[in-house]
Amino acid sequence: MRYFNNIIEYFNRNFLQIRDTAIIFSDCNRFKQLELNKMSTKLMVIGAGGRMGGRIIALALESGRFDIISAIDTSNHPNIGKKTVYTGVSGPIEITLNDTFPAAAADAVIDFSMPDAAEKTINYCLETKIPLVLGTTGINEKQKETIIAASKEIAVLYATNMSVGMNVLFALAGKVASMLGPDYDIEIIEQHHRFKKDAPSGSALTLAENICTHTGRKFPDCLVHGREGKDAKRRDGTIGIHAIRAGDITGVHSIIFGTSGETVTLNHTANNRDTFVGGALRAAEWIVGKKPALYSMADVLNIKD
Ligand code: NAD
Repeated sequence: MRYFNNIIEYFNRNFLQIRDTAIIFSDCNRFKQLELNKMSTKLMVIGAGGRMGGRIIALALESGRFDIISAIDTSNHPNIGKKTVYTGVSGPIEITLNDTFPAAAADAVIDFSMPDAAEKTINYCLETKIPLVLGTTGINEKQKETIIAASKEIAVLYATNMSVGMNVLFALAGKVASMLGPDYDIEIIEQHHRFKKDAPSGSALTLAENICTHTGRKFPDCLVHGREGKDAKRRDGTIGIHAIRAGDITGVHSIIFGTSGETVTLNHTANNRDTFVGGALRAAEWIVGKKPALYSMADVLNIKD
């Protein structure tokens, strides 16, 4: 009888253990599901048919941290109305390219399109009160004012370069310029692919602007874009900017600080577009729930002066 009781106890203990384990497993899965639900950021992507837009959707879905609620491009894009299949964490996901803004609310809008399109995006975000991550470059002064005005009503993150390394370079450039002092000539060289429309790059301008802020130069008056002619000697206090366009270069930015006897060079190379995409997705998660203001990647990375 004692032997029999021992067997019962043995089974009970193991049965309970198995049940306990099952409970733990089921709770784990529920917890994971809750976490996934909690972390899933609903995104709308503008310029979705472009090179950046396509990678944003692909990496967002691969990460499992985002739902794409709308992929928008201009009505004359050849893929409007067509589906693209992306890889999601639980299998393939079809996304249709649209040319109209939906009524469905997103947690955040990401725009990598064209400056004129960005204005339309801003108006949509203002109407719907959705925070905006704006990566489009080539924005003119009037459009900048529109961005600043919008940021009084909604959270707007505007960054001409969303890569983490480049944003560290933005922060360093001004500090290095001020540490080296006025005896060092400053030249910025940027290199991009042959399709890039605007020149110089938005990032080269941001580097120059940061240097100006830290050294008392007047931006953009102190900029000299390229040099040509018989009277093209460097003037003190200027910052030379040079734009190279060749092949499929993703993006290289160099800042040269030169004085008599030495040259200091800061350099950043983007190996591919995913560095910008990673930053944009990080920014989109960060901006949800933020109060109206104009933010930069320095806010996201917490590296503001
Ligand atoms: P792209 O030309 O491949 O894509 C742009 C897309 O915008 C195209 O599909 C185009 O049809 C679409 N578009 C044009 N007008 C539109 C409209 N009215 N509404 C909606 N969509 C419209 O260019 P890309 O290489 O993907 O770059 C897009 C933008 O992002 C450029 O301004 C580029 O300089 C900028 N960019 C920024 C960063 C950054 O980190 N901030 C990085 C890379 C590129």
